[in-house]
Amino acid sequence: MPHFLDHHDIRSRARAAFIGLAVGDALGAPVEFMTAGEIRSKHGVLREIVGGGWLRLKPGQVTDDTEMSLCVARAIVAAGGWSLRGIADEFAGWLRTKPVDVGDTCRRGIRNFMLKGILETPFNQWDAGNGAAMRMLPAALYTLGDDDLLQCCALEQARITHNHPLSDAACITLGRLVHLALQGASRNRLRREADLLAADHPAFTFTPYRGLATGYVVDTVQTVFHHFFRGRSFEECLVGTVNQGGDADTTGAICGMVAGAFYGMEGIPQRWLKRMERRTMTEIADLSARLIALSPALRE
Ligand code: MN
Ligand code: MN
Repeated sequence: MPHFLDHHDIRSRARAAFIGLAVGDALGAPVEFMTAGEIRSKHGVLREIVGGGWLRLKPGQVTDDTEMSLCVARAIVAAGGWSLRGIADEFAGWLRTKPVDVGDTCRRGIRNFMLKGILETPFNQWDAGNGAAMRMLPAALYTLGDDDLLQCCALEQARITHNHPLSDAACITLGRLVHLALQGASRNRLRREADLLAADHPAFTFTPYRGLATGYVVDTVQTVFHHFFRGRSFEECLVGTVNQGGDADTTGAICGMVAGAFYGMEGIPQRWLKRMERRTMTEIADLSARLIALSPALRE
């Protein structure tokens, strides 16, 4: 893989990817489960981090998408390397804190780990939700420079709760997009990667865009791709994505991680960063630096 960027740039983009994820989560969560029409009549175009929504969030508060990503990141950093058991333990600890939101499939998988020690949930046709894809960024940062390692880690973390070929494929492709963006690849290069996913799994075809933004991983990925490849700035990509409504915090989080890696810290609007919880931002900056330092691309 060509290296266009120096380590300093890669570290900065790694942080932007993780902060972008949290910003997308906080931006989208207040309109989660609303339709695009409902958002339009309430907000016009939603461009600010406003809080509220069905979870009654404080402005800048993040939800399970960011929290589960933090769990994965903490486990890798604590172990100084990959620890599936460590990740599952973090999920269990998080579930015990009675989080503001937990997806049904995630809850079931974590409970099966807590009660029976199961680290890989069996195949289930209903597991094609977006709960594994939304938290795969730490695995992407940790594996930068090694595609085989990415595939292995992305799937292992996913299958604690989700075991479905479409979820698996989405996790790997999103990881590859992050890898490419971190190394300075062009939008066209990223587009080819997205098109490869649609070639392997035609369900992911996103042109023409059908406008669905549910928690089904296919709808989620189509929404993210449609707005990421149309948008010309981090803000445009994210505003387009969350205004689709539906699972807006999760589409926002996933678009935020790819767009963050692509546009870098300079691309994330200051007015959004100011809204975010300070403690979460500090931890994300620390963890993203440690994850990328452990990656094959940057490890000395
Ligand atoms: Mn959420
Ligand atoms: Mn969600």
